[in-house]
Amino acid sequence: MTDAASATMAEWGEFGFIAALRERLPQAYGDLKLGVGDDAAWWCPTVGQGILTTTDMLVEGVHFDLSYTSAAALGYKSLAVNLSDLAAMGGRPACVYLSLALPARLEKVWLETFIEAFLASAKEYDVQLAGGDTVQAQQLVLSVTLCGLALAPPLQRRGAAVGDDIYLSGTCGDSYLGLKLLQGTLPAGLVSPEAAAFLKNRHLRPVPRVALGEILAASGSVSAMLDVSDGVVGDLNHLLTAAGGLGAELEAARLPLSFAARGFLEANLTDYVALLTGGEDYELLFTAAPGQRDIITAIADRATVSLTRIGRITPTAGIFLLAEGKSEALNARGGYDHFQHQGC
Ligand code: ADP
Ligand code: MG
Repeated sequence: MTDAASATMAEWGEFGFIAALRERLPQAYGDLKLGVGDDAAWWCPTVGQGILTTTDMLVEGVHFDLSYTSAAALGYKSLAVNLSDLAAMGGRPACVYLSLALPARLEKVWLETFIEAFLASAKEYDVQLAGGDTVQAQQLVLSVTLCGLALAPPLQRRGAAVGDDIYLSGTCGDSYLGLKLLQGTLPAGLVSPEAAAFLKNRHLRPVPRVALGEILAASGSVSAMLDVSDGVVGDLNHLLTAAGGLGAELEAARLPLSFAARGFLEANLTDYVALLTGGEDYELLFTAAPGQRDIITAIADRATVSLTRIGRITPTAGIFLLAEGKSEALNARGGYDHFQHQGC
């Protein structure tokens, strides 16, 4: 797909792009009988308990800022956020659809780089690009729809019960700090260059917990699960609402923080509340009855990402953070609502 670097979409055109895309794609394989090139894709899943679908839109100026988001990072992340949603149900990803609204002035090389990263990530997760749409618009908008298989009954947001333990995969708050560093609103000089690079990478290249989600669904030990895109507090709130209005207690001392995040915390440049309400961790947040602890520990031992018990479900609505003998209400600091924010 290489050509003069200065060419734009206006010159390349919709069909030029689709033809170049088709050249790059392998023949459809496995359950996908027909992919890009016809009026519809043909996918015949032969195993599992049905199909899971998820879709996400990314709008320039709302979800990403091209001044610090490269085409490669966006290509990777636009698939990663959908993989994370599927992981949150315990699904196994299979086919993806990519719809693009592109400004005519967009450079061809930008789209080539984007597609390269998107396809590399799809290959890594054994996901086939099965179709999509390409149109012109004033603003860059990316819409990704991912389909996958439910090999076990999907884990839902509803199902948590009073007394259940609350677990979080990986660490929280890194993406939020990474975004602040990218935006230049946190002084990078206070952490090592490696720590700053780690945090930025956590924002630009979140790792969807696909294998972990599938294992958790297969275990039958999890009562409710979702992925953390709106921040731990915001998403935990969704889980508690789905449980019929329960509450939660989180223990500050148990929160899994990266070495880099701890550096900012110790320098008083951030606090637990910010780390728990900042978005885009793309970790899995789930609940399980205390009787399942040994099973969860065994899963954690096998997983490539840590699992930490961070609190428990309580009978009365509200999320509280227990720190040094005090209890702080976190409710007022809810998750990200697109109609209450102006975007990135
Ligand atoms: P139609 O006019 O029938 O909608 P299109 O010309 O839009 O067909 O698309 C032709 C083929 O290219 C279809 O298989 C469609 O799924 C695929 N396609 C178009 N845009 C994209 C894209 N951005 N990513 C992946 N596949 C695409
Ligand atoms: Mg079309």
